[in-house]
Amino acid sequence: MTTKPGGPARGPGQSGGSGAQTQGIGRRTAVIAGGLGVLAAAGLAMEELRRVWWRLPGIDKPRTPGAVDFSGAAWTAASPANWRRADRPDDYAIDRVVIHVTQGSYRSAVRAFQDPQHRASAHYLVGRDGHITQFVRELDVAFHAGNRGYNERSVGIEHEGYVTDPSFPDVMYRASARLTARICGRYDIPVDRTHIIGHSEVPGADHTDPGPHWDWDHYLRLVRQAADAARGD
Ligand SMILES: [Zn+2]
Repeated sequence: MTTKPGGPARGPGQSGGSGAQTQGIGRRTAVIAGGLGVLAAAGLAMEELRRVWWRLPGIDKPRTPGAVDFSGAAWTAASPANWRRADRPDDYAIDRVVIHVTQGSYRSAVRAFQDPQHRASAHYLVGRDGHITQFVRELDVAFHAGNRGYNERSVGIEHEGYVTDPSFPDVMYRASARLTARICGRYDIPVDRTHIIGHSEVPGADHTDPGPHWDWDHYLRLVRQAADAARGD
């Protein structure tokens, strides 16, 4: 379901400075013009071509190996079987953050996301010590919500812990809140319970995380604080 025709992401050669990027787009545009000749002839706008070029077989959106979307995160790649390449927010608007709890240790979650048989991943994992790992780039679709539409429109954040364990450490709440605030700022997502939801609130979800001990009032207060701090007011 998430096969990668071109194998792993292309090499780092095309992800240097802006000059290299401009060159890359030019080269790919030429490829698209060949591949989509009919559409191009029909007058498909260049902007539209830029949005669809990566869908062509063997063409991959440039990604810098090890790059993260949140400066406080470390990168560990999830297995490519556990997410889907996309070009968000251009192809799918991002308007939700989905909060999860792992039901296991940090290391077991890392192992699961690296396992191609797991068939699931999240963009981020926040540990009980506040450590954050990113596994899937935000432009891509991670399989975390158990609902295709919600996967496509959301960023998924896992938290180390158990639904039945009331001891979510404050350092974890705060680290997660800084991350969520940044995501909300980046995609203009309102900081409220309509747009920041639990996995259990995803339509059709059969998961109960983050569970009754997740302190939503506290968490949203922290997200708002972090958002205000980021804006400098
Ligand atoms: Zn979940």
